[in-house]
Amino acid sequence: MSDRTVYDELGVPRVVNASGTKTRIGGSRIRPEAVEAMGRAATEFVRLSDLQAEASERIAEATGSEAGYVTCGADAGLLLAAAAALAGDDPSVMDRLPKTDGIPDEIIMPRTHRTGYDHAFRAAGATIIDVGTNDRTLGTGSTAVEPWEIEAAISDRTAAIGYVQKPYTEPALSTVTDIAADHGVPVIVDAAAELPPTANLSRFIDEGADLVVFSGGKAIRGPQTTGIVAGRRDLVESIALQQLDMHAAGDVWEPPRSLIETDSIDGVPRQGIGRPLKVGKEELVGLLVALESFLDADHEAARDRWLEAAADVTEELSSLPGVDPTLDAGGGVSVAPEVVVHIDPAGTPCSATELVRTLRAETPRVFVGADRLDEDVITINPMCLDDSELEYVIDRLRTHLAPA
Ligand SMILES: *Cc1c(COP(=O)(O)O)cnc(C)c1O
Repeated sequence: MSDRTVYDELGVPRVVNASGTKTRIGGSRIRPEAVEAMGRAATEFVRLSDLQAEASERIAEATGSEAGYVTCGADAGLLLAAAAALAGDDPSVMDRLPKTDGIPDEIIMPRTHRTGYDHAFRAAGATIIDVGTNDRTLGTGSTAVEPWEIEAAISDRTAAIGYVQKPYTEPALSTVTDIAADHGVPVIVDAAAELPPTANLSRFIDEGADLVVFSGGKAIRGPQTTGIVAGRRDLVESIALQQLDMHAAGDVWEPPRSLIETDSIDGVPRQGIGRPLKVGKEELVGLLVALESFLDADHEAARDRWLEAAADVTEELSSLPGVDPTLDAGGGVSVAPEVVVHIDPAGTPCSATELVRTLRAETPRVFVGADRLDEDVITINPMCLDDSELEYVIDRLRTHLAPA
C-alpha cells in the first residue's frame, strides 16, 4: 500500500475500501487514462454544449439509445430526468420548476423501489405516488406490487413512472414499460450501479425505458462526480436546456443541432433547475475516456480477480472460531462477488457492530460492508481493493476476530 497519500498530506485519514463503490468513501479508483485526459482538458477551452453533443453520440452508441447526456452523478441524472418529464420543451415550465402548478407532476413508483435517492425526483418538483405493499415477511401471500396497481395509479396528473433496476426488483421492467407505453407515460430507470455487465448499458433501453441513468463513478471508474443519462432525444434535449448555462443572446444562440433543435423551442430558456448540477469540461472528458475503457475492458478477467480475492478472504477467515464466511458470487445487491461473514457475538472477541466501529476508527480507516449488522453480518467486497490492500484487510480482520 502507498504509505503517503494526498489525504495523509492534508492530515485526513485515508480509507482502505472493502465495501465496494460507495460514494461517501470516494466511489471508485478513477482510470489513469481518464485522469490524464482530465489534466489536458483543464488547460484549454471548449463550448460545453459541443462537448455534450459529442458525449450524446458516444452514449447513444454505447447504449443503443437516441441520445445521451453527462450529469454530475446518477442522482443528478434522476433529477434532470424528472425535470425533462415535467417540462418537455416548454421554457415557461423550465423556468417555473420546482413549482408545478397547472402541469402533471406525479411520478409513480412501486413502493419497494423507494430509496433515499428518489429525493431527486421531488427536488425537481415531482410528487412521488408509491403503490404496492412492503410486505415480505408477514406471510400473508401478498406480492410487493401488482402491475394493475401501477396502471390504476396513472392519471392525467402523471408525469412519469420511476423504476429502480436490481436483479430482484419487480415487476419486470418490460411489464412496466408496456403499461407506460399504453398510456404514453415515460419510464425513468435508476440503474446507477448495474454495471458490469456491459450488456446492461443497452438492456434497459431495449426493454423500453425512456431514460436510464448510470453512475460514472462506480464500475465505469470515471470521475466520482459524473453520471450518464441515456434515452429519448426529446427528453435529453430538455435535460440539456435545463442543465447547460443559458447565458446566451437569442440572436446568436446556435447550440449543436444534434443536441438542441432551436426551432422546436419558443426562445432561449433561462438557467434552469439543472444549472446548479454543473459538469466541468474536465469531468466530462474524464467520463468519456473512462467509458471507452470500460467498453473495451475484459470484465471476465476482472470478475475472476474479484472471485479469487473473495475466495482468499473466505479461506483466511474460515478457521477462526465463531466466524462463518460464505462466498456470494454476486448479481444481487452488488454486481461483484462478496464474502458474507457471519460473526457469532458469543464466540468471538468482538461483535459485528464492534468490529465495524473499530475498523473505521483505525489509521488507515478500514471500511467493510455494514448493511446487515442486524444479522451479525459484515460483507467484504473486493471491487476497490488492490492486492496489498486485500492482504491488509485480511490481516486486520484476523487480528480482531482471532481468540485472545
Ligand atoms: C449509487 C446509486 C445512486 C447514486 O449515484 P451517484 O452517481 O453517486 O449520484 C443512485 N441510485 C442507486 C440505486 C445507486 O446505487
